[in-house]
Amino acid sequence: MELIVARNREDLVKARRGGDVALVPTMGALHEGHRSLIRQARVRADQVVVSVFVNPLQFSPNEDFSRYPRTFDADLDACRAEGVDVVFNPAVEDMYPPGRQVSVSAGEMGTIVEGAFRPGHFDGVLTVVLKLFNLVRPDLAVFGQKDAQQLALIRRMVADLDLPIEILGGPTVREPDGLALSSRNRYLSESDRRVALTLSRALRAGAAQFDPSQIRATAQDVLDAAGPELDLDYLALVDPATFREVGESHEGTAVLAVAARVGDTRLIDNVTLTLNPH
Ligand code: AMP
Repeated sequence: MELIVARNREDLVKARRGGDVALVPTMGALHEGHRSLIRQARVRADQVVVSVFVNPLQFSPNEDFSRYPRTFDADLDACRAEGVDVVFNPAVEDMYPPGRQVSVSAGEMGTIVEGAFRPGHFDGVLTVVLKLFNLVRPDLAVFGQKDAQQLALIRRMVADLDLPIEILGGPTVREPDGLALSSRNRYLSESDRRVALTLSRALRAGAAQFDPSQIRATAQDVLDAAGPELDLDYLALVDPATFREVGESHEGTAVLAVAARVGDTRLIDNVTLTLNPH
């Protein structure tokens, strides 16, 4: 089946075949992490739609919207190779015509952890995802655990706004040395990349720590050893559904999440762990 490129709602309606539709929202610059989500969608749905849209609403003025990588032709090749049915690639002017007023608020949960460092970011994410849901009308949608707070907020939005869409999370795909794949990794110099490896190393060390009271300190020690080239935004041990900090007596799953700047590039990563198993 030929890959269809849809630019607007009419194209999407024409491309619709019937059966279950899965949506994989992306900002393009597709890598193996995105491709693993596409494969997960493929297994579960009759038709797979991948959206490629660099969403200006989720970047603040001092962030990297204009220099975010755009590799549309390579993205189409990747989608063809993965058997994607439709690539939805709307224009910014069509998604956000002049005069728009109404958007989604991520609430208090959008202002903590990652949200504390990126004001308005999660409002922008939820607004574009709700628009994509309304345009594509998927039965299910797949998001990466790599952006764990985003995934938690999308689950929250689906529950709070009664959206009839099943949300699936996909595991983080990593380089053999542990670095989480990211479209932004291409900006890392060789020495940046060595420093960036500290993030996944710190998370692994934290996850291997059996004593819950020492998890954060163990990961922090690894981060500290990286020196001043690693500019840490946060290291947080949180509840995976609410992103509120958990204490050492917490029982069940928790997310150890980290964000740091290396050179001009901001990186995030996380691992899921179980505290105080019975
Ligand atoms: P992005 O294009 O960065 O907005 O990401 C699009 C989707 O791919 C999001 O659901 C991300 O969480 C997911 N994603 C990004 N990096 C990875 C990765 N290394 N492994 C799995 N999923 C990822």
